Amino acid sequence: VSFRCRLCGEDYSFREPRYRCECGGFLDVPAGTFSAEATPEFSVGSIWRFKEAYGLPTDAAPVTLGEGGTPIIQKTIDGFSVLFKLDFLNPSGSFKDRGASSLLTYMKWLGVRRAVEDSSGNAGAAVSAYAAAAGITCTIYVPSYTPDGKVVQSKMYGSEVVKVPGTRHDANSAAVAASRSSFYASHLWHPFFVSGLSSAAFEIWEDCSAGMPGSVLLPIGSGGLLEGLYRGFSALKETGHISCAPKLIGVQASRCAPIHDAFRRHLDDYADVEAERSVAEGISVARPPRARAVLQALRGSGGYTVAVDEDRIIAAAKTLARIGLYVEHTSAAAFAAWFTIDRRDREDALVILTGSGLKETGTYGSYF
Ligand SMILES: [Zn+2]
Repeated sequence: VSFRCRLCGEDYSFREPRYRCECGGFLDVPAGTFSAEATPEFSVGSIWRFKEAYGLPTDAAPVTLGEGGTPIIQKTIDGFSVLFKLDFLNPSGSFKDRGASSLLTYMKWLGVRRAVEDSSGNAGAAVSAYAAAAGITCTIYVPSYTPDGKVVQSKMYGSEVVKVPGTRHDANSAAVAASRSSFYASHLWHPFFVSGLSSAAFEIWEDCSAGMPGSVLLPIGSGGLLEGLYRGFSALKETGHISCAPKLIGVQASRCAPIHDAFRRHLDDYADVEAERSVAEGISVARPPRARAVLQALRGSGGYTVAVDEDRIIAAAKTLARIGLYVEHTSAAAFAAWFTIDRRDREDALVILTGSGLKETGTYGSYF
């Protein structure tokens, strides 16, 4: 088994530490095997019940903090029944723990001792948490303007946080440069991050045994979760567990919508956009490296994209909180989009609430 470049088809051994192809393309891992039978040693809770599905080496021992197994609840909104998957209840407070768990499992198997990552948000926290669980030393590169409060969680997990003068792109370059001597644990690039995210599809299938949702709404920044869901639902379809997979509806903030723009203009890769600052910072990714895969997944699922304005995102965050669901703006964007879609798609929708509102105390405090 090996990595394969989606662009040029080149193969690389799993033993070779790399995050992308020599040609600059992004890598894929084989589909793995989906089995509805729980792996005996992980019969409770976590994503590792579906261990074979992530395409990892068979002798890789899971690095786990009990991620996944998040509840789905039903609410009635404007006369519609809506399902919410509470993925903000993961160990570090976001869905990214699913991907960090599978990526760090691979890294531990590979014998990695030092890792670098470049995220001041949920991915940085998730990678830091699982690096701590794996006993791997982690350095996070962030732009120098990042507020100290944003990186406290990563620091508490033991990561070193390095502030890089300049833009988000400069922080990225610093991480790439450092990856010559450390492993680049990139949530944007790495296929083992994406394969772990497919666990959310298996859980939706399991919990919706009475009937799958017709559409799944989720926020997309780099789009890893959408790619992961497509991978998971495709595996369920191929093994005959479902006959029809849900439409995937990817939601971006209007202020930074390179995938939405590309989808509308029938492009194969992300569109060049002038990114403005959005409250939904977690999905403000101007140049998502796996956009080709995300666009293929969107089209393959029969889904589409929606872009939502700032005032709608803020209103949706408040509406959710008033029914007891405290999530960050990024997650609220997906719910904001629900109000704008076709009546038919609204009727049997599931919205993934990806990140906890507890991460945005500062911003939410400014509303009072
Ligand atoms: Zn290539």
